[in-house]
Amino acid sequence: MSFRTRLTSFFLLIVVVPMVAVGFLVFRLIGDSETGKADARAVGIANAAADVYENSIRAARYDAKMVAGDVGSLNGSSLRTRLLALTTSAGLARIVVTEGSRTLADVGTRTAIAPGFAAVGATPRRSAVSVGVSELTAAQYGRQLSGSGIAVVVRQGALTLGSTVPRTGNTALPRHGTVTIGGAGYRAVTQTFAGFGQSAVEVTTLSSLSASAGMAGTSRVLAGVLIAASLLLAFVFALLASRALQSQLGRFLEAARRLGSGDFSAPVPTEGSDEFAALGQEFNSMSNQLAGRLDELDRERARLRESIRRIGQTFASNLDRPALLELALQTAVDAVHADCGRLTARANPGEPLSEATRVGSLTGLERQVRAAEGAALESGGFGEADGESASIASVALGAFEPGGRTHGLITVSRASRPFDDDDREVLRSLASQAALALENVELHFQVRRQAVTDELTGLANHGRFQELLNAEVEAVRRYNHPVGLIMLDIDDFKLINDTHGHQQGDLVLGHVARVLRENSRDVDVPARYGGEEMALILPHTDLDGAYAIAERIRSAIEALRVPQLDGTGALRVSASVGVASSSEGSKSELILAADSALYAAKRHGKNRTMKAEAQTANVFGAG
Ligand code: GH3
Ligand code: MG
Ligand code: MG
Repeated sequence: MSFRTRLTSFFLLIVVVPMVAVGFLVFRLIGDSETGKADARAVGIANAAADVYENSIRAARYDAKMVAGDVGSLNGSSLRTRLLALTTSAGLARIVVTEGSRTLADVGTRTAIAPGFAAVGATPRRSAVSVGVSELTAAQYGRQLSGSGIAVVVRQGALTLGSTVPRTGNTALPRHGTVTIGGAGYRAVTQTFAGFGQSAVEVTTLSSLSASAGMAGTSRVLAGVLIAASLLLAFVFALLASRALQSQLGRFLEAARRLGSGDFSAPVPTEGSDEFAALGQEFNSMSNQLAGRLDELDRERARLRESIRRIGQTFASNLDRPALLELALQTAVDAVHADCGRLTARANPGEPLSEATRVGSLTGLERQVRAAEGAALESGGFGEADGESASIASVALGAFEPGGRTHGLITVSRASRPFDDDDREVLRSLASQAALALENVELHFQVRRQAVTDELTGLANHGRFQELLNAEVEAVRRYNHPVGLIMLDIDDFKLINDTHGHQQGDLVLGHVARVLRENSRDVDVPARYGGEEMALILPHTDLDGAYAIAERIRSAIEALRVPQLDGTGALRVSASVGVASSSEGSKSELILAADSALYAAKRHGKNRTMKAEAQTANVFGAG
């Protein structure tokens, strides 16, 4: 049901229905009152007519006594003559003399009414002679009454003696009621009076209904106009109220649609102090709150975008581990609106966790930080601890592979409110991203290390050796510094493999490599040239310097006691060493010279160092 339909129904129920009921009642009351008035008038008229009639009877009684005295002994025609004379002289309408039921004389008009009776004295001869006299004819009676504005119909039996109303005819007249004569309505009251003879005289007084009907009509019209005016007024008022309500609702609807489409700029009007104004205020405050929330969301989104951009930038631009750790921590602090935090990580795989970077100060929170970090490390997930002034949350940068070690911990502290599930979710997600990034960085370095390092000995591999030697020879050409090169080959290594197995051989290689490393300077590059052959690049070193280093190394190898894997003792090994140096020349010539010196050492009985001149490839030995 629409709002308009509801309003209309409401209007009908509380205005139209009661108005119609009141109108009905008013019309009914007007009708009743008019009937009452007409009745009262009719009764008044009837009473007046009765008075006239009865007064006439009383007067007639005197006349009757007078006539009775006058005609005492008369009889027959003399009586009749005398009576006629009396009617004329006394102005009587009718005189009737009866004896018992016999009429002795009857003079005057038959329409005479209101007779008075007197007895003529009873004599032995004449018994019960009675005289009836009337002064009034029906027509006279009618005239008298119509002078007072009263309409009357006088009847005796079926005979109409007189009528002031034309066309009465045989119309039946009620004793008390309404009758229509000649098209006009009357209120009729019929009274019975004494008349001549056996039958009584019936006098019907008629009061016209048209007079009172006219008044009633006026009242009805007035009442009708009043009710119609009230209805009109109520209708206009209801229409205006409905319009006002609808326009208010329309404005709310429009505002709601605006809100729905994300436009918070125009508030709902809130004039006045009614419920609509209150509703409007609530609406506006709701709209403001929504706008605020949206702004906050926008800011949050911008922050998130910025974080994603920063992370993406770092991933894309470099593999800078410290920068990555800093970024991970800063992003975590920003994401959960923390006040401060720190990130702990392993400087190298296998080393314990230590603080890598920090935002703000965690002073005074050390105990809680340790508790939260301990819990996170133990579970490999999330740890929390609450201090008096702040909440601490720590999340593990989880192991990338199952069973792997945790890479580190991001720990944040917030004073404003404890961390909730949303914060935990954000931190977990960040930690997993950061762990992945860290894993990538480490993987990258591992691959790079593997690409340049010999796995068994930890020395530079052959490729790296060539690369670095190239660079050194280039530097030699440019700056004219000498570079020395030592090549060494383990003596009778095949025998070790054959006798003690390859694993024992590997162990010997490791020990010899360690000797090489321990006897080289920071700038020197020890390398595994291939098999059991090793090399050492010596920048800024001439042949004699290189020879001295080579001899030291050879002696150290000779002094080695490599434990036997079967636990039965230790092995002793030796190596033959070739030394060369170059101040110009080429890389291949340098290698060739050192290699030739090495083979010369082999030829000369092994476990010895021999030097060569790179350019001349002169080889001369020393033992
Ligand atoms: P010489 O004194 O003349 O150098 O004799 P040698 O036995 O050392 O020389 P040879 O070149 O005949 O043998 C080298 C052996 O080194 C052959 C090979 O099986 C072994 N070898 C090479 N690389 C490795 C390695 O990585 N591990 C082990 N265990 N053995 C290796
Ligand atoms: Mg060899
Ligand atoms: Mg060998």
